[in-house]
Amino acid sequence: MTAQILDGKEIAKGVIARVKSETEALVHATGVTPGLAVIIVGDDPASHVYVSSKSRMAKECGFRSSQYTLEATTSQEELAALVAKLNADTSVHGILVQLPLPAGLDADAIIQAIDPAKDVDGLGVANAGKLMTGDLKTGLISCTPAGAMVFVRQVHGNDLSGRDAVVIGRSNLFGKPMAALLLAANATVTTAHSRTKDLAAHCRRADILVAAVGRPQMVQCDWIKPGATVIDVGINRIDAPERGEGKTRLVGDVDFQAAEQVAGTITPVPGGVGPMTIAMLMANTVISAHRAAGREPPVF
Ligand code: NAP
Repeated sequence: MTAQILDGKEIAKGVIARVKSETEALVHATGVTPGLAVIIVGDDPASHVYVSSKSRMAKECGFRSSQYTLEATTSQEELAALVAKLNADTSVHGILVQLPLPAGLDADAIIQAIDPAKDVDGLGVANAGKLMTGDLKTGLISCTPAGAMVFVRQVHGNDLSGRDAVVIGRSNLFGKPMAALLLAANATVTTAHSRTKDLAAHCRRADILVAAVGRPQMVQCDWIKPGATVIDVGINRIDAPERGEGKTRLVGDVDFQAAEQVAGTITPVPGGVGPMTIAMLMANTVISAHRAAGREPPVF
């Protein structure tokens, strides 16, 4: 059997098209244009690439996009003052602080300082708490798990009753919100992590297996239940001498080539979960803008 491959780029395009039409509807009905403010501190090259693509996508969606590029020497107080200014700015509906922040800055304090209504990364305790208590309607859901759930729904529909799901990883950024979303959709959920005993045996029971570890190709094909849905969140850069000296390539946490012979459906890396993360950031921004204008927000 060869698995169906979920094309994250195509599915993300569909989300972006919907964001654009919801933006047009909002502008038409209220004159309000969604505003996304992206803050980057320091000169980490990978972070700059991510931020540029987020700002570009925001413009493509018809948003008012503003980027704040701050020196690595920026103090906690200066960064907090910028967040406070953006919290108070009614033309801004989403605030994103690109992580990681340079050493010496307290990222958690900054994230918690973002107005929950504008916390489009969904990482603040107010939004995380809503998700944990099963409120999927009034908060903002962390973008990568929200995107992974779009894939899950595409394969299994909205109701995962009777399905076993295993999430490998328990980060606040991904593992915990992903487990909460699967649980909210009625799956029976196991969260595995570095202290889990016999990880392979847990994985073999999964109808839906989600890997978010950060270890290249850790999940082997004999860990996968035949026909399972495999969502690979990991992004790992490894050496690729076959492409030439000094070359590298991106791989996920799943041994894709072997796994696609066993799984029913699988996401590739790159081109799977990655493009969905940025699409869901745009979705959260348009949701926030609709709410700020007193309108019922779209559901993605
Ligand atoms: P993280 O905070 O480092 O968490 C990794 C998790 O994996 C931890 O819970 C850790 O367990 C667990 N783990 C580590 N080694 C393990 C092992 N041998 N067996 C089982 N579990 C193990 O990472 P993250 O932020 O969640 O990200 C995970 C991966 O997803 C990374 O590759 C990251 O680049 C990728 N990612 C991709 C996107 C995207 O847009 N596609 C977004 C976010 C993250 P402990 O808690 O016990 O340490």
